[in-house]
Amino acid sequence: MTEPIKTVEHQYDVVVVGAGGAGLRATFGMAEQGLNTACVTKVFPTRSHTVAAQGGVSAALGNMGEDDWRWHMYDTIKGSDWLGDQDAIEYMCREAVPAIVELEHYGVPFSRTEDGKIYQRPFGGMTTHFGEGTAQRTCAAADRTGHAILHTLYQQALKHKAEFYIEHFAIDLMMDDGVCRGVVTLDMETGTVHIFRAHQVVLATGGYGRSYFSCTSAHTCTGDGNGMVLRAGLPLQDMEFVQFHPTGIYGAGCLITEGVRGEGGYLTNAQGERFMERYAPNAKDLASRDVVSRSMTIEIREGRGVGEHGDHIHLHLEHLGPEVIHERLPGIAESAQIFAGVDVTKEPIPVLPTVHYNMGGIPTNHMGEVVHLKDGDPDAVVPGLMAIGEAACVSVHGANRLGSNSLLDLVVFGRAAAHRAAEVIGGRGKPHAPLPAGAADLALQRLDRLRRANGSKPTAQLRREMQNTMQNYAAVFRTGDVLEQGCNRMDDVFRGFADVGVTDRSLIWNSDLIETLELENLLGSAVTTIHSARNRLESRGAHAREDYAERDDENWLKHTLSTLRSDGSVDIAYRPVHLHTLSDDVEAIPPKARVY
Ligand SMILES: Cc1cc2nc3c(=O)[nH]c(=O)nc-3n(C[C@H](O)[C@H](O)[C@H](O)COP(=O)(O)OP(=O)(O)OC[C@H]3O[C@@H](n4cnc5c(N)ncnc54)[C@H](O)[C@@H]3O)c2cc1C
Repeated sequence: MTEPIKTVEHQYDVVVVGAGGAGLRATFGMAEQGLNTACVTKVFPTRSHTVAAQGGVSAALGNMGEDDWRWHMYDTIKGSDWLGDQDAIEYMCREAVPAIVELEHYGVPFSRTEDGKIYQRPFGGMTTHFGEGTAQRTCAAADRTGHAILHTLYQQALKHKAEFYIEHFAIDLMMDDGVCRGVVTLDMETGTVHIFRAHQVVLATGGYGRSYFSCTSAHTCTGDGNGMVLRAGLPLQDMEFVQFHPTGIYGAGCLITEGVRGEGGYLTNAQGERFMERYAPNAKDLASRDVVSRSMTIEIREGRGVGEHGDHIHLHLEHLGPEVIHERLPGIAESAQIFAGVDVTKEPIPVLPTVHYNMGGIPTNHMGEVVHLKDGDPDAVVPGLMAIGEAACVSVHGANRLGSNSLLDLVVFGRAAAHRAAEVIGGRGKPHAPLPAGAADLALQRLDRLRRANGSKPTAQLRREMQNTMQNYAAVFRTGDVLEQGCNRMDDVFRGFADVGVTDRSLIWNSDLIETLELENLLGSAVTTIHSARNRLESRGAHAREDYAERDDENWLKHTLSTLRSDGSVDIAYRPVHLHTLSDDVEAIPPKARVY
């Protein structure tokens, strides 16, 4: 016998799902605007993956050399390989400067220059004078910037009296004729189901790195928001663009920040050669991530990898000296010691390109509102639903994200979403439209089905099959044949989920059940990723096809939209890239968000 499910109902103006950098910035912004705000999170807020961000957050402050937000905008558009929406990129780069000053005032303990300003380091792809010089644009709190930001944002959220529902797992959205009316969660501690009604639901659930075998992200990065959106019949955007970070620790996958190369670290092959000088004579080791990852993969493939199996590369920072290492990169020294057994003051770190960031996600406009294709309108807003952070595709990162632009994206669009929600909702405590009967059924039936699932395939087995398929068939280099095989395999794994088996039937701290709910979300992200990758017949940013080696603007300067049918097949449609800027249309910037 399985126990019956107890339910509890709540009403809020806004419910934010996720308490990483994006979710917390939105949560306290909403509360600050006077909205009755709840934040639901499956892990304790300061354990969200944002805590692991090391290198820093970009903004053209010009503290350590000349800088201009327009150069930042140029770099971001170029880095996106022209797939980024230029109105959103302009908004982000302009807002970066006040957003960082605001973070400083909230209490983020940034590292300092001699004269007391925020310390800034160079990062890949960040230039001055439209590609001529190297910009020092990445604001850092040593190598623990995400940690510093996340703790500060959590304190601000508590100060503004936002309400937290911690260790609540969001299962599904409540949709009513195309409008989002709320979200259903499972309180993992008590096994109670909570039905949250809200005028706006904000998905800030992070990325889906865990659909791959080797990734730098936390075990909790399972694309839950993406899964909810797909089950609501809405599309995901640009899922084929998966960023590999050049320097994951060989074997463990843990990240060694690009900040190491920003501080002067460099890569060598088995011959001790600094090979990046050949691939990118100007930027060298600080070329953008896709360029460095592909160069490393070529070195390994052509037999110049290091180690017993010739399957990785060395990253050196010995020459920086113990003082610089201990002041600027203390966390790196510790990670290298723990995960590779290496003393970085004496020997190189073994590294390998590892999945790091998902450019694709839930399509939104630059105010955080979810959009989809409706009656020929590519920018039609889904009422009641917003998305921010890595879960969203604004799209400021386009085909490839520049390092330190993600933490920026979290705070800028978290804040923008708060302003927009306050505007759309129009005041605290407005009455809710009646909830149609059965609004929570999608969530309740799914929960019930999975907690009773008694198929033959354990969750862990299906997850491993998915991770291996993605790692081997949707990797740094892609070809039509390999992607075709990968799609067939992923479709099989996806269908295999119908035969999943859960052994624990309880509702209290049932990690078997939670991992199964997460696996279903990961499968949705994985299958849309690999089908979108097969469909895009060009190379752009992080999507490198050996059979279509060139970028093809004539046919492919467009966003991919992928929706999932219940049988696992993927439908593809397109949205145009926004090639217009906001300065073309100043009225489009919400008054509160204008800098001038
Ligand atoms: C190791 C590492 C280092 C990085 N370094 C940098 C850097 O230096 N600079 C930079 O700009 N970017 C960096 N990035 C990228 C950046 O940190 C992430 O993209 C960003 O932190 C994601 O933030 P987020 O708020 O979108 O999501 P996350 O921080 O991942 O938070 C997701 C939140 O959603 C909640 N959640 C998810 N699913 C559910 C559910 N079903 N129910 C309830 N809650 C749910 C979780 O509890 C969590 O609170 C790094 C990434 C990694 C992995």
